[in-house]
Amino acid sequence: MKNGAEETTNAYGLSHISFFLFRISRYALDILFPPLCAYCEAYLDNETTPFCNACLGMIVRQTSLICPICNARMAANKNICTHGKSKRDQYPYLLGAATHYTDPVVRACIHRCKYEKVHSLAPVFAKLLVEYINALDPKPSIFASSPIVVPIPLHMHKERNRGFNQSALIARSFARTMQLPYDELLVKLIDNDPQAQTKKRIARLERMHGAFAVPRPADVRNKTIILIDDVSTSGATLSEAARTLKQAGAKKILALVVAKA
Ligand SMILES: [Zn+2]
Ligand SMILES: [Zn+2]
Repeated sequence: MKNGAEETTNAYGLSHISFFLFRISRYALDILFPPLCAYCEAYLDNETTPFCNACLGMIVRQTSLICPICNARMAANKNICTHGKSKRDQYPYLLGAATHYTDPVVRACIHRCKYEKVHSLAPVFAKLLVEYINALDPKPSIFASSPIVVPIPLHMHKERNRGFNQSALIARSFARTMQLPYDELLVKLIDNDPQAQTKKRIARLERMHGAFAVPRPADVRNKTIILIDDVSTSGATLSEAARTLKQAGAKKILALVVAKA
């Protein structure tokens, strides 16, 4: 019988000999250029993320839901604080943010993910979301209804250029840990960026109008949904996504972001 050792491949899709050479060159590189934490530049013992555990531990965790308009701390199950009925329709969701965007480690993490195509931070962000949800007391009632975890989509062109959707990676990892269903129920029709274009909140909301669609409304009707994004600044993206899901018949929405600006 043929031995077949040469044909066997490993997780990297390499033969044993190539893998051996790959390991040696990695080892040599690590000696010459040891991996450093992207924030404090301490040596990394464990290379699963570009940040050391001390830096990740330093991130200040939030402990309540917040108002999407003024960032005030909110009691469970209330969407905005004292901004009036018309505003309530603009923000048809509860908002949870695990951290604040002013946190320097969070900002460095998010920046790396967005601009250097680092996939390995998605589980770190998902873990921050899980810890945040577990710290909420009481937990929002939406968790009693087996909500569907839905990522904020990127426009097809943007996802193709970037190679992945950061929010989808975080949402998948979060859903897996929380043992909740995951479904990409939204698509993005317009390739725009509300943050970059204008500073006015109303103008941002208007710019996002019609940006999303629900291709399978039957899968949304009467469902509760957890909408996931990495960062929220004005809330225009979350508002438009939540409004689109509501129009398709979603019952209740909790938007969860890693960081709120
Ligand atoms: Zn560090
Ligand atoms: Zn408020």
